[in-house]
Amino acid sequence: MRRLRTVGLEEARDVVVVTPRRGLPELMHRALADTGALLHGHFGLHGGKHTEYFIRFRALSRSPQLLGLVADHLVSRIEPDVTTVIVPESAGFFLGDALAQRLGAGIAVARTDLQRRPARSLYNGNVRAGDRVLVVNDVVTTGASLEPLLDLAADHGATVTGVLVFGALDGPGFRAILNRRGVPGDHLLEAGPAWTLHPPDLCPACGRGELPLLPAAELN
Ligand SMILES: [Zn+2]
Repeated sequence: MRRLRTVGLEEARDVVVVTPRRGLPELMHRALADTGALLHGHFGLHGGKHTEYFIRFRALSRSPQLLGLVADHLVSRIEPDVTTVIVPESAGFFLGDALAQRLGAGIAVARTDLQRRPARSLYNGNVRAGDRVLVVNDVVTTGASLEPLLDLAADHGATVTGVLVFGALDGPGFRAILNRRGVPGDHLLEAGPAWTLHPPDLCPACGRGELPLLPAAELN
């Protein structure tokens, strides 16, 4: 049987590290706990790792106030001359839409495949030659799943000027991918010391014979 529970405030503080900005960590930990967005269970991620926690961004984004707060913090971290926001067909859409409104930019939605991974193909909206593109998603592990969206922008002759995500569980991995692609970017939170990502063969829950929820992205 699959056990799933929401995580309260005290536990959220150990599980999630929020970028140190005045007041932001307390706000984000409360938001995760109050909206039930932070779940404990047994999850399989896109990159193949298993984990005991998952952020269901859809739960947080149902509050226009919280979504606006997240968008305001993220938008302050990039150059504002963005013409187009590319976001996958996922809960990340709500964040992409909030950022596009703040930037006066258009929004283009990329398809996702059967595993809910972003694909190098547009579902809705346009990307044109010369566009200055911001790539957005809700929560990634390293952001490797977003690379098809960087390629998609290049396919249309556009330039990616930034990548913004609410959460990057593997913060150093996220920064490494941005560096390798030569794109600036930022995130508000990452996995803390109490949040471990396991290779499936070393996963304690799998060791107990419990089946992972896979792909966990379906929770959004
Ligand atoms: Zn497992």
